[in-house]
Amino acid sequence: NLTDRLADTFKNLRGKGKLSPADIDGTVREIRRALLDADVALDVVKLFTGNVRERALGDEVNKALNPAQQVVQIVNEELIGILGGEQRRLQFAKNPPTVIMLAGLQGAGKTTLAGKLAKWLAGEGHTPLLVAADLQRPNAVNQLQVVGEQAGVQVFAPEPGNGVGNPVKVSKDAIKFAKDKLHDVVIVDTAGRLGVDADMMKQAADIRKAVDPDEVLFVIDAMIGQDAVATAKAFQEGVDFTGVVLTKLDGDARGGAALSVASVTGRPIIFASTGEGLDDFEPFHPERMASRILDLGDILTLIEQAQKNFDEEESRKVAEKFATDTFTLEDFLGQMQQIKKMGSLKSLIGMLPGARGMKEQLDNFDESELTRTEAIIQSMTRAERQNPKLLNGSRRLRIARGSGTSVTEVNALVNRFEQAAKMMKTVAKGGVPQIPGMGPV
Ligand code: GDP
Ligand code: MG
Repeated sequence: NLTDRLADTFKNLRGKGKLSPADIDGTVREIRRALLDADVALDVVKLFTGNVRERALGDEVNKALNPAQQVVQIVNEELIGILGGEQRRLQFAKNPPTVIMLAGLQGAGKTTLAGKLAKWLAGEGHTPLLVAADLQRPNAVNQLQVVGEQAGVQVFAPEPGNGVGNPVKVSKDAIKFAKDKLHDVVIVDTAGRLGVDADMMKQAADIRKAVDPDEVLFVIDAMIGQDAVATAKAFQEGVDFTGVVLTKLDGDARGGAALSVASVTGRPIIFASTGEGLDDFEPFHPERMASRILDLGDILTLIEQAQKNFDEEESRKVAEKFATDTFTLEDFLGQMQQIKKMGSLKSLIGMLPGARGMKEQLDNFDESELTRTEAIIQSMTRAERQNPKLLNGSRRLRIARGSGTSVTEVNALVNRFEQAAKMMKTVAKGGVPQIPGMGPV
């Protein structure tokens, strides 16, 4: 698959001190083949490899990374770009209700998505209404009703004798109903066909005209491979849409559709569906998808290596200080500044494999705490930093005032430092230098 192929490509670069233009061309050729085999559209492949080649041949410099690692970084950044760059959030109407229309082929996952979206929005405090405007498939209305029940959300469906067979009328009636009953979001589920079909397009376009949606989400099965681009283009011409939802990403081993659709249509991917259950759904993050395609393990290696080269010298000194009990708050401050230099800790950790599982911890980790800690140490005199035992009550009060913190915070920092230094002394004897204060000690 794409991930393995890219990993192999990068492996070939490892250990090279400097990349020749021939190395870069060879690498780009392999990336090109891997992308084509993963069903990425040719135009997108050309654009992508062109950008990577140009940047790799150029003179971008990142001192922390060796040339091979820089290529990985360039590929990662270009992947994120192709996937749309920034995360694009759902847009809400200034005057509710916000109308979201779903369009796509039969079996793409529209009805399932309607339920997922409704449940997610309800969880965010919205009061969504699901609208059954797929009157094509015999069981479609019923399917939406089942999904609505699972999501705990109301479903608007045509009543016998009123609007049956007329999805435009049903959609219009639904908007009126939503306004009356104060639903702030309306999700219109529409009919699809097995293939691109003029009737279907016209119906979807008519519904669009009738309900004037804030978002038209084009729902596409990520497993359809090369057909993804043609289908997306047909829907863009026939109905047009404001965003894309990729479904069945759980089964997509190749990732090609994801890479093609956003780029070819110029429309952002807003959500990803990753299973049949109502909770198998998430807002789409280009950088996460890129990491997934690139294989997080590789990025980990990249970072580990870069960091190792960068910090080895420093770490050795610190370890020595721990072992000899001469590590001071001053050194602590130096360590912290180095960490900040390496960029946002959160985004750094976010790149590591298994970080998904750490997400909650990450969200709880407060980077501003690092800044407060820094402020406290900076408010100490040099003598105090060298010897925390000097820190009596009045000095602590002065430091708290100087750093805009409280005495409690100053106390907590000093305690934590002392505990950490003690622990690190033991650890350092085993030869594993670490940074204290970076987690629960
Ligand atoms: P629609 O015709 O576009 O409304 O598609 P449906 O919502 O009826 O979905 C078609 C089939 O795909 C159903 O069996 C769903 O359970 C399944 N499905 C939908 N989304 C996903 C997904 O993200 N992953 C997987 N594995 N199956 C999905
Ligand atoms: Mg359906």
